[in-house]
This record gives sequence, C-alpha cells and structure tokens, in this order.
Amino acid sequence: MNYKNALKSPVFKWVAEASSELGTDSYVIGGFVRDYLLKRGTPKDIDIVAVGSGIELAKKVASKLPGNPQVSIFKNFGTAMLKHEGIELEFVGARKESYDRNSRKPIVEDGTLEDDQKRRDFTINALAISLNKNNYGELLDPFGGVADLEKKTIRTPLEPGVTYSDDPLRMMRAIRFATQLNFEIELKSLQAITEHKERIKIISKERIVDELHKILASEKPSQGFALLQKTELLPFILPELVALQGIEEKEGQRHKDNFWHTLEVVDNIAETTDDLWLRWAALLHDIGKAPTKSFHKKIGWTFHAHEFIGSKMVYKLFKRLRMPLNDKMKYVQKMVLMSSRPQILSEEFVTDSAVRRLVHDAGDHVDDLMTLCEADITTKNSQKQKKYKNNFKLVRQKIEEVEERDHIRNFQPPVSGEEIMETFGIKPSREIGIIKEAIKEAILEGEIPNEYEPARKFMLKKGEELGLL
Ligand code: ATP
Repeated sequence: MNYKNALKSPVFKWVAEASSELGTDSYVIGGFVRDYLLKRGTPKDIDIVAVGSGIELAKKVASKLPGNPQVSIFKNFGTAMLKHEGIELEFVGARKESYDRNSRKPIVEDGTLEDDQKRRDFTINALAISLNKNNYGELLDPFGGVADLEKKTIRTPLEPGVTYSDDPLRMMRAIRFATQLNFEIELKSLQAITEHKERIKIISKERIVDELHKILASEKPSQGFALLQKTELLPFILPELVALQGIEEKEGQRHKDNFWHTLEVVDNIAETTDDLWLRWAALLHDIGKAPTKSFHKKIGWTFHAHEFIGSKMVYKLFKRLRMPLNDKMKYVQKMVLMSSRPQILSEEFVTDSAVRRLVHDAGDHVDDLMTLCEADITTKNSQKQKKYKNNFKLVRQKIEEVEERDHIRNFQPPVSGEEIMETFGIKPSREIGIIKEAIKEAILEGEIPNEYEPARKFMLKKGEELGLL
C-alpha cells in the first residue's frame, strides 16, 4: 500500500526536492505518521529524518520555501527546526544511540533509517514514510507498528528493559500515550517499567509535569493514574495520592478508598470541562484526607479540616514538582480549600445569606467550584446520586437569584474607606476596618441591601456606636 495521501501538505514536496538535490534520503517519521494512520487530524509538528545531515537538509528546504523561513539550529542535538504556515518542521539526521547509565544523554553516531527507528520509544512512533523518488509514499515499518496500532498496543522496538532504562522519560510517555489513545501497554513493558521505576528520579520535574498535564488533559485521565499506580511510579511523582489508597475498618465502620474515588472524580470532571487547572483541583481535592484521618468511637471516621490542610499541601506539591507558584496554583488551592462548601450548603435548608457568603468567597470561581462538587458525586446508589445532583441544581439556582439581586461576586464595598474617614473626620485607623467589615457582614447577612444609601446609613449608626460622632 502506498501512503502518498498522507503527504498532501505542500511542505513534503519541498522536502523531497531538497533531499533529492542533496542526494540525501529523507522520511517523515513519528507522531505525524502515527496520527495519520489513526485519523487523529493533522498534527502541527512534522518530524523529518534525513540519512545524512538534518541541519543541511533544513537549510536547503528553507531556501526553497516561499518567504525563506529562518532555521533554528540545535548543534548539540544535530537537529534543526523551521516554521512554515503554522507547521513546525523538525529535522534530524538518522542516528544510532548508546546510553550512559547516569543520564538521558546518549552517545550518538550516524546511522541508517532502521538504526534511527530502533532508538524511537514505541513501535507506533517508529513508523516512517519515504519522501524519496524511488519509493515516495512507501511505509517503512520494521517493528510492526501498524499491527500495534490495530491491536491498540504500546510496545517498544527493542527489549523494553533497554528502552526504559536508557531513557526513563519513556515510562511516562508509555503511560501518557496509553491514556491519550486508549491503548494497552504490553505486559513485558509494564513489568520493565516497574523494574526500572527508580530511574524516573533522573528525569527533570518539568518533563514529568508535561506528561502529567497530557494525562490530565485526556478523555479518561484515570487510566494514566491507575497505570502510574500499577507500575509503582506514582510514589515518586505524587505520593500524596498514594497515601489516599486503602480502606480501613474499625468497629465495623469503613471509609471509602479515596484514591479510587479521586480518579472517578477526575474522570467525571473531564466530561464537563477541559480546564487543566480545574482538573488538577479535582485530582488534589482530597489530598488532605490522609494526614487528617482519625477514628472516633461515636462518630466514626473523620477528616477534620482536610480542605485547609489539603490546600497547604498543594503549595508544597507544586513547589516540589517545580510547577508555577502563580495564580494557577492559588486557584487550585482555593478550589481545594472550598471543595466542601457547596456540599454543606446543599445538605441543609439553603439560606440566602449562606449562598451570598459562598459567592463572596468563591468570587468568579463559583461556577468552577460547583462543577467540582458535582464531579465529586461518586455514590453508586442511584437514588442518592439523583438527590445530590438535584440539591446542587437548587444551589446553582439560588446562586443565580442572589447574584441578580445582590451583586456579591467581586464584592466592592458600597462605602469607601475615604468616605468613612471624611464623615467622621478621622485618620487611617482600626475603626475604619471595623466599620467596613461590619458593612460587608450586614450585606452578606441580608440585613441591608448591597447599595450606597442603606450602607451609608448603616455606617453612621456603626460610627455612633463606636463613639465617633
Ligand atoms: P505528541 O506530539 O502527541 O507528543 P509525538 O509522537 O509527535 O506525539 P514528540 O515528543 O513530538 O511526540 O516526539 C516525536 C517523535 O520522536 C516520537 O514520535 C518518537 O518517534 C520520538 N521520540 C520522542 N521522544 C522520545 C524518547 N524519549 N525516546 C525515543 N523516541 C522519542
């Protein structure tokens, strides 16, 4: 079978022409070919392997392309990259690799196409299509990648132990691809990952987090986390999740397994949102439960203040994984901290003031918080399921009503600190804070509406009480 159809993009013509002029064979390889065969849409990256110098080929291609795009050269890696009409073209010379045990940096020599395919991580990523005149469009598949695509299998071209030990990032990539593509990792590979799990320590946190992001962004992220757990990689990456595993029973009382519960929550939320950080919040929403777990004869298992402890743990976890300690981290912390608030609300008779407080505290993230809580419903009892969902629906309705009336979201005090100072002729002092807080409380409690005149009246009364008039 010929795969000329995969080469519709005009860039392949330019590459073919350039490599023919240089007398260098070239092939499109890796993700592009895999995704073409899987009909996963057109990838933005195209990897070209040249049996010769990838850098020279890139330069030649650039000189032919309309607009003569700039070539970025990475001499140390022997690779070059150029961008053309939104497509990133990566060029590399075919190579043979051998590895030093203590790093991911290989010792590289020039090699044949097959040498290069052998050093690829998985058979499905080692597929190449020829761009050469004599066999343009021919698929080169020495390791059975097409069969593995059909069987939905992740398999390494070499002995799995060698592949994973050479570059342990491949362990994460195997799990990530299995999750993204809904494939199985072959048993030998799974065993090799477990055997070499400790080698994940030489991989930079940034690379690990990249893979975690991709797992979380998948349709069913639980697959990836279950594999991380099964291969025993998880303790090196997210020990906080490992600590949630297990069910304890005391005096006939059991708590749920919070690890598997968490994975269900993540899958649930993946059905309703693509927001990566909200998915992170789902993954971490219960991490405070392990350190706060305790048993009391009368009330059973408790996880007192786990939301607060959990939100503190988010900071440490982000720091350890060298994730950004920015507004995204603060957002995840806030979601974890508030993760039980709507639940408490939905369990009792919902008062307006409780809803106003929720909206005030969650601000613009109140909808996300509700999405998280809805995803948190994992009961298998269909009646309870229905009841909880309905309760949250009521809370959402109430939020809308309160919002329309009271405009609590992003609360701005209707009377400013300056006005308080001017009215009572006082300088910046504690009293101003007290009055402002009292006005806010009165609004949240529904004693006065969120409007200027009633707030001013209230301020005067409060000032009088404080002896300022
Ligand atoms: P995606 O873009 O979805 O991540 P991809 O397969 O294009 O998929 P890249 O990371 O861009 O992934 O890698 C391009 C190709 O380079 C892969 O298809 C594979 O052949 C090879 N490759 C990438 N990383 C490794 C690695 N760590 N070990 C071996 N081969 C790799």
